[in-house]
Amino acid sequence: MSPDQMPEAVQERYKNALDSALQAGLDTLEGGGSSLDAVVRVIMYLEDHPLFNAGKGAVFTSDGKNELDASVMTGHDLNAGAVAGVTDIKNPILAARAVMEQSGHVMLAGRGASLFAEAVGLELVDPAYFFTERRFESLRRIREMEKHGTVGCVALDRAGNLCAGTSTGGISNKRYGRVGDSPIIGAGTYANNRTCGVSATGQGEYFIRWTVAHDISALMEYKEMDVESAAKKVVLEKLVEAGGEGGVVCLDALGRPAMVTNTSGMFRAYGNSEGERMVAIF
Ligand code: ASP
Repeated sequence: MSPDQMPEAVQERYKNALDSALQAGLDTLEGGGSSLDAVVRVIMYLEDHPLFNAGKGAVFTSDGKNELDASVMTGHDLNAGAVAGVTDIKNPILAARAVMEQSGHVMLAGRGASLFAEAVGLELVDPAYFFTERRFESLRRIREMEKHGTVGCVALDRAGNLCAGTSTGGISNKRYGRVGDSPIIGAGTYANNRTCGVSATGQGEYFIRWTVAHDISALMEYKEMDVESAAKKVVLEKLVEAGGEGGVVCLDALGRPAMVTNTSGMFRAYGNSEGERMVAIF
């Protein structure tokens, strides 16, 4: 991913979508919503947006299907929920939240996740919802540029509670049944009010093996590193040595962000109640 490979108009489309997602999150928090509400709202927006590799815009498995993963974690109680390998839940992040709040479990996969989602009243769609030939063709070129389109969000609310969530279609051409880091707590998602919230994107196999999201939190907890140094240590040193590509968005318990990637770009945005705001790709 480089600025000269991505036409201005495409960059603008991404930036506008990121800005709208950010606004949805800020509105939620300003209205007194929890960090969990904000994270879910932002991720839903991005899941419904065909530009991103989550929900509607999910990438395809090697057999031309879409299998989605998502997770969410709240930092005040270390509660978490996730779904993996789902094919017919319109908004996997809602299912992840429902697993956390209503199932007594942390992760549900495949058909079991769908049956649970249906039972709690979530919208199921025909798997064809995630596949539109016209959109597939028109987005094919964009997707080629964008290997890591997973969406994620971390928020801190007025009560001082952190929440992190992640949603993805996984990696293009993945094997049937492959599950990445995104639904795995400690790998693709982590939140702890004592340290930070983390959402990751990249080659999931590395993020699982290096327990990336929890590692950042652990460096803060045990080595008393700040969020930026901890994220850099893991993403720019440990992952690079391992050969794993990707990045993270993090927020510490005081609301300080760290958005670090070892790739040439990462779609990202940040805003706070003081009016600071940024949207960036490279
Ligand atoms: N981390 C995701 C996965 O491995 C993919 C991505 O972030 O692009 O499933």
